[in-house]
Amino acid sequence: MRNIVNCIICGKEGKVFFDLGDYHVRGCNDCQLQWVEETFEEKVLEDFDYYWAKDFFLQNEELLCTYARTELENLKKFLFPTPHSPLSTPYSWLDLGCGFAYLISEGQKDGFKVTGVEANEGIVNLIKEREPLNIIHSLINEVNFPEHSFDLVTLYDVLEHLLDPRETISKVSGWIKPKGFLAIEVPDGNSLFRKIAIFQFRLTFGKWKVLMRSAFHKHPGGHRYAFTEFSLSKLLNQFGFETIAAEKVMMPFKLHLNEVIKDYSGVRKIVYIVFLVFFYYLSQFLGMEHRLKIYARKT
Ligand SMILES: [Zn+2]
Repeated sequence: MRNIVNCIICGKEGKVFFDLGDYHVRGCNDCQLQWVEETFEEKVLEDFDYYWAKDFFLQNEELLCTYARTELENLKKFLFPTPHSPLSTPYSWLDLGCGFAYLISEGQKDGFKVTGVEANEGIVNLIKEREPLNIIHSLINEVNFPEHSFDLVTLYDVLEHLLDPRETISKVSGWIKPKGFLAIEVPDGNSLFRKIAIFQFRLTFGKWKVLMRSAFHKHPGGHRYAFTEFSLSKLLNQFGFETIAAEKVMMPFKLHLNEVIKDYSGVRKIVYIVFLVFFYYLSQFLGMEHRLKIYARKT
């Protein structure tokens, strides 16, 4: 597959912003978009283990279900602002890249007619053992639905991993009903973490790459795109979506804490916990949380 040289939003050639050794991050200042130039064959995602982080999800299942419930209540505030919603019932909901499907599992309990799409067969089997949910085993770029099939489409922690997010938004635009709803969550390109990573990279004239390499990944399933509210809204707008709200959030503190406790020991563990507490709450204080949510409606 060819490298991605041009901005997927405006089509102009992107400049090389960061040389990260064996890969490069290009960017478009007009669209506030940054992306990894080098690509891979998308099929490998089906078997790439790191991408799915199975252990992380299974160990934190209770926490993630609670997080999913909170997000569902948040979604419902946008979907049902008044008792007389213009959308049809029952609400059909497509969750692309559903992972362990915690979110649509909660949705089904509330009467949504849910469909999940997940590329990893092992995870699809785990979900089916857990509960009866309508899950399609497929890569996102290979799945298809009739026009105007869904009232709601969600893409949580997905768009930044794709080789071609534009293609996905284009397809979703066709599948969603007029006045239908789209919710997206991605890492925020303007987060405190990203700003520190860029600052540190520039300060060392690109010699110390470790933070930037943890913000952008070359490997399949890694973070390939950094969107901001501006870039994501601009992309959505090109496919007939109007952004109605944007929020910045952190994942639950305990999730990060569990990772640090698991990965480190001794003095390093204490140092990382102190750093985590400082960084986590400073991000919130500055309004530079690391996750961006966009809620949009099809016009
Ligand atoms: Zn652009």
